[in-house]
Amino acid sequence: MSKTITLKRGKEDSLLRFHPWVFSGAIANLPEGLEEGDTVSVVAADGRPLGTGHYEIGSIAVRMLSWDNEADIDASFFATRLAAAWQLRERLGLVRPADNTTFRLVHGEGDFLPGCVVDVYGNTAVLQAHSPGMHYARHDIARALTQLPGAGITNVYYKSETTLPYKARLDPVNDYLIGGFETNIALENGLRFNIDWLKGQKTGFFVDQRDNRALIESFSRGARVLNMFCYTGGFSVYAMRGGASLVHSVDSSAKAVALTDANIELNFPGDTRHTAYAEDAFKYLTDMPAGAYDLIILDPPAFAKHRSAIKNAMVGYRRINAAAFRKITPGGILATFSCSQAISKEQFRLAVFTAAAQSGRKVRILHQVTQGADHPVSIYHPEGEYLKGLILHVE
Ligand code: SAH
Repeated sequence: MSKTITLKRGKEDSLLRFHPWVFSGAIANLPEGLEEGDTVSVVAADGRPLGTGHYEIGSIAVRMLSWDNEADIDASFFATRLAAAWQLRERLGLVRPADNTTFRLVHGEGDFLPGCVVDVYGNTAVLQAHSPGMHYARHDIARALTQLPGAGITNVYYKSETTLPYKARLDPVNDYLIGGFETNIALENGLRFNIDWLKGQKTGFFVDQRDNRALIESFSRGARVLNMFCYTGGFSVYAMRGGASLVHSVDSSAKAVALTDANIELNFPGDTRHTAYAEDAFKYLTDMPAGAYDLIILDPPAFAKHRSAIKNAMVGYRRINAAAFRKITPGGILATFSCSQAISKEQFRLAVFTAAAQSGRKVRILHQVTQGADHPVSIYHPEGEYLKGLILHVE
């Protein structure tokens, strides 16, 4: 029997609408002996059952796993949820062993497994827990991953040192839960990428940009391309295949530049169209001559990880976009992104609008884009939509 958390009067509405979080302020009382990571039943003030979730200390107190109060959150629960997630990826056409072996299999709330992220790279799944409950469930999840019919996952790497609340004292260790290192080369739309899940950012690759990389490929023929904040060079590799005449990749991290060079070499050995530079974005954008690029990609790290940083983030987005607008060749295309959860689509658009207006250039929106379909967003949980992009034509 799981312990029961009772909500304050009137605080059940969002749960009845399938919003997956219970905020600490909505809770009337916590049961005796409740520990972080425990599975709890949640009931309304009048005793009406609302569902089952993982408890943690913090402003989000419960992440809902099921709208059934009797749900057993056990190995078979995780196996069922993972199988549903796998089926969706198959349905989306992402499971294509011959040319696409990388995708997000579990996107937290969007796959009804809040606090859990799983990215698949060929035979290896990289598992991230963002909540103590998912940390405790990691072995059940890992086993279920290797038992998914037809998936062929033989290695599960656990990477939660930086994603778990540090106060939780769980002492997570980044390591293989099952299997070990085999190969780190994954395929995305027929292109090959070295994925560094051991030392790379996030799970090693930004899977969320797949569709946008393909879009950039379609605009690349004959273009001189600048891929700013290149990390593993995803956009650069696609631009090369799209027929760019020149691709410059820039990242302040020397490691990222080396990763990009390696990925270009893996797909286009000896191709001299590409050069990568380890430089600061603001400096590079300020120093580069006007008219040097016909296609510019700006995919910076999250400038605002929390609400408190929104103001500075808006200034950051405005500055880099203003520089790109000033310098891009007439008739050029600017692909500009924000992955800050705390910045809304409207705020991001305002920052880009302001930058465009400051540059005095005529700008049209060609595409408004977001994360790939393997990062689904519950319609009741708009917070899950974090990636925003504008593909712009600049006269
Ligand atoms: N576009 C990438 C993901 C970008 S992640 C992809 O598709 O995979 C953000 C990158 O920005 C990181 O690699 C980080 O090293 C780099 N970065 C952070 N601050 C920077 C700065 N001031 N100038 C240049 N690069 C920066």
